[in-house]
Amino acid sequence: MVENELIEKTLVLVKPDGVQRGLIGEVISRFEKIGVKIIGMKMISVDKKFAEEHYNDIKERKGDKVLQMLLEYCTMGPVVAMVLEGVDIVEVVRKVCGPTEPNKALPGTIRGDFAHANYNLSDTVGQAVRNIVHASGTKEEAEFEIYHWFNENELHPYTSVHDVHILHKEVKKE
Ligand code: UDP
Ligand code: MG
Repeated sequence: MVENELIEKTLVLVKPDGVQRGLIGEVISRFEKIGVKIIGMKMISVDKKFAEEHYNDIKERKGDKVLQMLLEYCTMGPVVAMVLEGVDIVEVVRKVCGPTEPNKALPGTIRGDFAHANYNLSDTVGQAVRNIVHASGTKEEAEFEIYHWFNENELHPYTSVHDVHILHKEVKKE
């Protein structure tokens, strides 16, 4: 397998609760610390149509009530969208975020460190589970989501120190 096949891209959103709680930097720094490369980033306010296109399988998986709650959640304020690149990045980023339901997310994960509620509260109050971040669940989801949120010219490949220290790329001597 050639090295480039090991490098994947994924989409992460700091959802409106994360933005409103001042957690943008916290989320970004967790990815920076593990040597993930950020190749695209922007703040964006989306409408329900755009959010529903993003969450195109939720109605089928979770039902219309969850979809409607989720659309309210995703449009209640701006989100910060970013594209991350790294080795097995889809799986790694999900690990850093933790599972969907915050009460199940371990300390050390973003959802475990900054939230604690559960589906029961969500159903009772009629609001989607506020869990700070979205991260693509599979490579196929990532491929769709990246180009739903970003144009090709908004993605910026570059060489980072992680290319040397994590991906073992040769350091060029002068
Ligand atoms: N969600 C919810 N109630 C549910 C399932 C999901 O409010 O029973 C919300 C929650 O904010 C979640 C989002 O819908 O993050 C998308 O659900 P998914 O199952 O794709 O979870 P994720 O991929 O975000 O972990
Ligand atoms: Mg999902």
